[in-house]
This record gives sequence, structure tokens and C-alpha cells, in this order.
Amino acid sequence: FQVSEEGRGISSISPMLTVTRIHNSISAVSNIRRFVFFRVFLFQVSEEGRGIASISPMLTVTRIHNSIMAVSNTRRLLNWSKDFARKRVAFGHKLIHNPLHVQTLARIQVELEGGFYMLMKVAHLFGLEENQVATDHELMLLRILTPLLKMYTGKQSVAASSELLESFGGHGYLEDTGLPQYLRDAQVLSIWEGTTNVLSMDVLRSITKTNGEVLRALLADCMSNIASVPSSSDHGLSATRQSIVQAINDISSFAKLSTTKDETFMMAAARDFSYSLARTYIASLLYGNASRCPDDGRSTEVAIRWTLLNDLAPINKALDNERIYSKTDFKNDHAIIYS
Ligand SMILES: Cc1cc2nc3c(=O)[nH]c(=O)nc-3n(C[C@H](O)[C@H](O)[C@H](O)COP(=O)(O)OP(=O)(O)OC[C@H]3O[C@@H](n4cnc5c(N)ncnc54)[C@H](O)[C@@H]3O)c2cc1C
Repeated sequence: FQVSEEGRGISSISPMLTVTRIHNSISAVSNIRRFVFFRVFLFQVSEEGRGIASISPMLTVTRIHNSIMAVSNTRRLLNWSKDFARKRVAFGHKLIHNPLHVQTLARIQVELEGGFYMLMKVAHLFGLEENQVATDHELMLLRILTPLLKMYTGKQSVAASSELLESFGGHGYLEDTGLPQYLRDAQVLSIWEGTTNVLSMDVLRSITKTNGEVLRALLADCMSNIASVPSSSDHGLSATRQSIVQAINDISSFAKLSTTKDETFMMAAARDFSYSLARTYIASLLYGNASRCPDDGRSTEVAIRWTLLNDLAPINKALDNERIYSKTDFKNDHAIIYS
């Protein structure tokens, strides 16, 4: 039975929660966050087997929130780093004139924009759902994109924050600059609300539960994002489009192949599969953006860089190698770690 009006579940059971333990976490070093353990008196809030389904709108909100944190954490550090590069002189030159340093920041900027576009897409879909005007296609997209977004941006933020701390040199490690806190805070983003692996499994679950409908919706949306063909003189964008089409084909072939395999195969492939979906989808968003503003060289460059810097569909290695994700591979993984 429904215990409260929709969206008020936790607040209506909060009088039943007792704090049993306050736990230090990485972030608690500066007293920003504390990890609280509750003793909870449980009662049934939905029919059996429908528990997660009945709280799923809350999961969507928290996952989007997590991604907002991930993207904004990176953006803030990057802005500071860009400013630092204008001022810091190393080896006789300001960092802003150093090709290797600027390349490092540009790569993070491209990653950041990819994550940002995906976040905006999911936020838009969620708005449509909340206002009950989403089409079936949009609901399918929201279902698969939400775990993908949280998975991709959480991990991205940890890597980007680490690189950005390094961009400040020794200052990045000093507590009184305030910078290390950003790396510590980023680390939780890939853990809570589902780790990378757990979210990858959730992506698979969404595909199984909808008989593949969510995957078809995602690939169809990719195709529609890259519908406009660049002019023949625009070689960079043509090659980008080709890479995206290739990645979509690889993902489709992999999905077909997986139907002939055992459970180990898909479980072992889950993370690479989810990364393939996230990277390819983002590539299509960036391409769509670039093709809508043909005179904006910067958007074009970002779309081109995304496909150049990322392996769009890492699952393609399994298409011509029987061993990848097999039980033999699993046995060998075990042997590498434990024997
Ligand atoms: C600061 C903080 C605040 C939190 N706040 C809340 C909160 O308010 N409410 C709440 O309910 N929870 C909260 N959590 C809990 C958080 O959601 C979980 O810690 C997180 O989902 C990971 O689950 P776990 O700790 O049980 O790890 P485990 O599930 O034990 O995971 C351990 C490792 O195993 C891997 N793994 C687990 N299952 C699979 C699988 N099926 N396939 C492949 N790999 C797998 C994981 O990826 C992970 O690397 C919070 C956590 C933190 C750190």
C-alpha cells in the first residue's frame, strides 16, 4: 500500500529512523559530510517484488543530482585551473603558452562537455516525465540513460578531479588551497547510488525487462542525432559521423551475439557495454550540436575530439575474439588475482 503522497516516502518514515552510528568518511576530514547509519523499522511499502520499481522516481532524482555534482565539480576545478595557467610561470613561460599543459586541459574540457550534454538530455527527459508529457520513446530513453549518465559522469569526475589537482602542481595537494577536498568529494560520486559495476548491471536489467526496447530507443536516438550529413568538404565531421555509425553497428552486433552466450558473458561485458552506450550516445549528442551550428568551429572540434580521444565501443573486441568475456577469461582473471 502507498504510505505517503508520491515523493514523500522518506520524510513520512523519518520518525521511525534511529541514528545508531556516525561514521567518518574520506570527506569527513574537513567535516563536510558524515556517513550516518540508521536503525530502521521496516514495513512493506509496495506489493512484493515491486519495491525498487516503486521507489524508482526517487532513484532518478538522486542519480541526476549526483551527475550535476559530478559535472559541476569538474567545471569548477577546471575554471580555477584555466585561471592558474594564465598566471603560473614554469620553465620560463606561462602555462597557458605550454602546448602540453593546454592539451591536458582541453581534453578535460571535451570530457566535461560530453558529460554536460548527456546530463542536460536526461534532465530534459525527466522534466517531460514529471509533467506527464513524455512519449513512450522518451520514457524508454530516460530508463536507460539515467544509470548510464550517473555511471559515466561519476567516474569521469574522479579522473578529471585528479588530473586537475595535478594541474596546480604541489598546490593541488595542499589542504589550505581547498583543492584536495574536491577530489575527496568526487570519489563518493562513483560509489553511492550505485557503483560503476552495479549501474552497469542496472543498464542490462533495463534492457532485459523491456525486451530490448530501451536499447532500441537509445540506438534510434543516436541515429536521429546524427541524421544530418556534413558537407563533403567537412572531413573531420564526416569521419566523426562514420565512427559513430560504426560504433552503433558494433553495439547492435554485440547485442545479437550476446543472445547466443551464457550469463557469465553478459555479466563480464556489462561495464564495457555500458561504456560503449554512454560514449556513443554522447558522441551523437556532440555531433548533433556541431551539425546544428555549422559555423561554430569550436563545437565541431569538440565533437571531433570526443570520437578521436574515446574508444566509442570497447565491446567490439569481443566480436572477433571468442575468449573475451568467456568463462575461460573469468577463470584466468581469478588466476591472475588469486594464484
Ligand atoms: C557517504 C555515503 C553516503 C551514503 N548515503 C546513503 C543513503 O543516504 N541511503 C542509502 O541507502 N545508502 C547510502 N549510501 C550507501 C551507498 O549507496 C552504497 O555504499 C553503495 O551503493 C555501494 O553499495 P555497498 O556499500 O553495499 O557495496 P557493495 O555492493 O558491497 O560493493 C562492493 C564492490 O562490489 C561490486 N559489486 C557489487 N555487486 C556487484 C554486481 N552485481 N556485479 C558486479 N560488481 C558488483 C561493487 O561495484 C563494489 O565495487 C551511502 C554511501 C556513502 C559512501
